[in-house]
Amino acid sequence: MLVRLRKGLAPDQIETVLALCRELGYAPRFLGAERQMLELEGAGRPSHRSLLEDLAGVVEVLATGDARELHQADPRTSATQVRAAEARFGAGAISLIAGPCAVEDEQALLHIARGVRARGATLLRGGAYKPRTSPYSFQGLGRPALEMLARVRAEVGIGVVTEVLDTRDVEAVAEVADMIQIGARSMASSPLLLEVGRTMKPVLLKRGFGATVRELLMAAEFLLSTGNDQVVLCERGVRSFDDCTRNLLDVGAVAFLARETHLPVIVDPSHSAGRSDLVRALARSGMAAGADGLIIEVHPRPEQTHSDGQQAISLCELGRIRRDIEALAALGEARLVIPADHATPTEPALPAGDAP
Ligand code: PEP
Ligand code: MN
Repeated sequence: MLVRLRKGLAPDQIETVLALCRELGYAPRFLGAERQMLELEGAGRPSHRSLLEDLAGVVEVLATGDARELHQADPRTSATQVRAAEARFGAGAISLIAGPCAVEDEQALLHIARGVRARGATLLRGGAYKPRTSPYSFQGLGRPALEMLARVRAEVGIGVVTEVLDTRDVEAVAEVADMIQIGARSMASSPLLLEVGRTMKPVLLKRGFGATVRELLMAAEFLLSTGNDQVVLCERGVRSFDDCTRNLLDVGAVAFLARETHLPVIVDPSHSAGRSDLVRALARSGMAAGADGLIIEVHPRPEQTHSDGQQAISLCELGRIRRDIEALAALGEARLVIPADHATPTEPALPAGDAP
């Protein structure tokens, strides 16, 4: 491991760094007469990079070698595959998550669940607890929505992804969810990350809209530190100076994460686009950048919803995206995992209002 120190450190500041290095079990040695680059020899541990970076005298930790953090790809081991119900993410498997932004009406949810499953989705999304910018906006139906998700899950045989906002709801959400979502606004909440990690359920961790990739990875590290390795990262767009899309889809981050971590990464083109007519193009770009799946908001009657109706796509459009994914997956030598009984896609008749 290499540690770069600040220029002009006083001898006692240098001694503080050296003392920590020795305490962590390393034999430190300066490279060059400037005493700025320190080489550490010895077996590293995942926590060492952060411990060293916390010292005021340290600028950065480079070439971590054996001190690999838990999220980091290791050439000696294979990529992690996350499994939730019928879905598989990573290590050559691509899965599609689709459904409404929020759970609002059980009949509509049932219809959407059947429709998305018929179009290759292996997980149904739908929020019971909604993180809204305004306290006056619809906040989700809470427990009754969890019960609706449980009934629809049993009826349709599709796994469920739903968000938890509060540590007090983790147990109830874990009972229903096949995968627990931690949303962009909660990404940095370490108590929530730890509580969700400890359920040992698969976790969908969304990047905060103002978070760096390093911050996302440290949030993943909280989850992984509980011993739960079933973590899927999700790029959903970040704030930018421009407003032609709701958020700026960071495809560079997707390519980076696919290379630098062993965890699967998926893309949310819905919250990046913020409008239904751009979702398909962003979905394609995410897959082309190396994503292991997509999470997409779908609603046949978007005008009737209380959250994110403007970005919900029709079931028909989801069918087109599914075909795009299959074509792009082949380029990356991956495959779309589809529901077992839908090996041959069937397209149920479109209900009135589900405009193509
Ligand atoms: C959502 O998935 O509906 C959601 C609120 O997403 P995000 O946390 O990415 O804003
Ligand atoms: Mn939404």
